[in-house]
Amino acid sequence: MSTSDDYPLPAPAPDGLSAQWYRFLAGGELRFQRCDRCGDWRHPPRFLCAECGSGDWSWQASARSGRVFSWTITHRPLHPMFSEVLPYSILVVELDEGPRIVCSARNLPHGDLALDLPVTIGIARLSEAAGLPFARPVSGGESR
Ligand SMILES: [Zn+2]
Repeated sequence: MSTSDDYPLPAPAPDGLSAQWYRFLAGGELRFQRCDRCGDWRHPPRFLCAECGSGDWSWQASARSGRVFSWTITHRPLHPMFSEVLPYSILVVELDEGPRIVCSARNLPHGDLALDLPVTIGIARLSEAAGLPFARPVSGGESR
């Protein structure tokens, strides 16, 4: 983990295929691996397709829209640096392409959270190597 002036909370320090995923986010893109043989989308990043076993894949751009699959609201910090942002929600969002991601939320009050709530995915750039996705309501929030 690392921190920066722009993002004082602990940030990921990924390696391998995960580092590629975070680097796309740093560049403002949400991409997922997609199998070149069967077309299955997948996340988290891995070398082989779980559907057909192929090792041939490419990074493809997501439309960045999906629905709330699940969420939790954190009231106690697991790391002291998060005590300033309590309580906060962590969502599991199922993208329209199929993969699910874990992300934070913006402009989404806890009382508005609901299963299947349509959301779009924004990206917070942390560094040249990493960005973090966040969910926001379809009808509001920033343009990016
Ligand atoms: Zn496949």
